[in-house]
Amino acid sequence: MTDIQRSDVIISGGGLVGQTLALALAHHGLSSITVDPADPVATIAPGFDGRASAIASATWQMFEVLGLADRLAGHGCPIRAIKVSDGGQSGELDFETGEGDPALGTMIENRRLRLVLRDALADAPLAKLIMPAQVADRQIGPHGVTLTLADGTQLAAPLLIVAEGRRSPTRDAAGFSIANWSYHHHAMIGAVAHSKSHDRVAHEIFFPSGPFALLPLVDDAEGRHRSAFVWTVSERDGPGFAKLGDRGFTAELEKRAGDLLGTMELVAPRMTYPLGFHHSASIVAERLVLVGDAAHGIHPIAGQGLNLGLRDVAALTEVLVEGARLGLDLGDAALLARYQRWRGLDSLMVSLATDGLTRLFGIPGRTASAVRRAGLGAVQQLPMLKRFFMDEARGEAGDLPRLLAGAEV
Ligand SMILES: Cc1cc2nc3c(=O)[nH]c(=O)nc-3n(C[C@H](O)[C@H](O)[C@H](O)COP(=O)(O)OP(=O)(O)OC[C@H]3O[C@@H](n4cnc5c(N)ncnc54)[C@H](O)[C@@H]3O)c2cc1C
Repeated sequence: MTDIQRSDVIISGGGLVGQTLALALAHHGLSSITVDPADPVATIAPGFDGRASAIASATWQMFEVLGLADRLAGHGCPIRAIKVSDGGQSGELDFETGEGDPALGTMIENRRLRLVLRDALADAPLAKLIMPAQVADRQIGPHGVTLTLADGTQLAAPLLIVAEGRRSPTRDAAGFSIANWSYHHHAMIGAVAHSKSHDRVAHEIFFPSGPFALLPLVDDAEGRHRSAFVWTVSERDGPGFAKLGDRGFTAELEKRAGDLLGTMELVAPRMTYPLGFHHSASIVAERLVLVGDAAHGIHPIAGQGLNLGLRDVAALTEVLVEGARLGLDLGDAALLARYQRWRGLDSLMVSLATDGLTRLFGIPGRTASAVRRAGLGAVQQLPMLKRFFMDEARGEAGDLPRLLAGAEV
């Protein structure tokens, strides 16, 4: 008979959210087994995920507690200011940090995050990763969860955490109702080296054809200045831009950036992602919870998607660690209800705000543009409103889990 491998939780999905959760739980003494069908070597190859993420400063505080910040030393570019403009015209809004203030966020390449998570988990015996793994059978009952892998291995735990990303099959099989729509836009992403320094400023320029973001990265080993770009175009135009050679594509990038960064050269493979919104009405079911993109997916306009998922991680860790201290069953419905109350509303508010922003800045025409510029100008004049937006960007708004305030649970 096969031995059953038991752990405090099973995590299905070892992306950035699933792996950070495994690390956070291990840090607080809870064991996990993470299963994912992806080949772990492929997921850290340079061409696998060319994105870079703006890690909000609250999320960074959790990285400090978990030892990830030390491992990322020298690889993150702190964002000193964010400049927002409508089509590059006047009526600009800028969020600037004062001397000694924390950064608005830190830009990190996703591949770097994957590398440090791999190393951190290798040093965390309580977090076991089985990759690649195929789940042949899944049983969820009143007394626990059992997964059988294709090679016959059996895993058992009181709780299954689903971190399978936006197309999560386990979520769909469990019958969660999901609101979703497409933005009919594609995001083209990549990285460029450029002649002028970015001065640690992020630029968000809203063109009627879609937002265009330039996000500062650390200089490369040869001292070249680098930035990531997220360039959103309609799904009709996406294939045309994708077909452009590197020279033609770079010329289009330079045109959109104006003279912000000088001449540019592509330094990472460019990739295209279709953009859509999805949101699960509930994020818990019997002995099952959703985290990260399995629960919610938003437009990258405000760079909040991964941060939202990492807020799920911080809140769920707090709920489970406190539950374990009280000797509770980790799949207990009351514990899961606490997670639902904590994260359900916050992620819905951020998702809806991002959706509203996407629509507002997507309306073509001069009148809409004038209204937007008036709005940006008004926020610029109101310190309290500016502070509100800066707290949101830093991820410091709302009922913060302890990890996001830089404390152990
Ligand atoms: C263009 C773009 C730019 C972005 N920029 C930012 C940014 O600046 N800041 C930010 O905060 N967010 C950003 N985001 C959002 C962010 O990338 C996502 O929110 C984040 O990657 C979600 O992580 P996840 O681990 O939940 O899901 P994923 O990264 O999708 O990982 C899911 C994992 O589950 C695994 N899996 C799939 N099916 C199964 C299964 N059946 N069983 C087990 N495992 C399975 C997959 O192999 C994968 O490893 C951006 C998104 C896009 C598209």
